[in-house]
Amino acid sequence: MNKTYRHKKTGGSYVELMRGTIEADLSPCVIYCALKDGSIWVRPVQEFDDGRFEPIEAQPAKPAAPQISGDACRHCGNFALVRTGTCQTCQACGETSGCS
Ligand SMILES: [Zn+2]
Repeated sequence: MNKTYRHKKTGGSYVELMRGTIEADLSPCVIYCALKDGSIWVRPVQEFDDGRFEPIEAQPAKPAAPQISGDACRHCGNFALVRTGTCQTCQACGETSGCS
């Protein structure tokens, strides 16, 4: 999994592809890719790591598991009521109850 960074100034997101060496002075460099257009960029590591980029933590999309309340829906009879705030919503028929 490649590391993703955000450029603090522009807000653009970039994925680090690999690191290499600049032939002219043998300084290490970072080769990275802009997420918005796929363009490839190269910077000396020293510059890349000087604080202008901040790493973005990979956040796997994990939707919160619905909370089945265990009550039967008064409309369709399924035990599919899920708490939505102060209400309960039936996942089977969409009926809400307990709101008022
Ligand atoms: Zn229902």
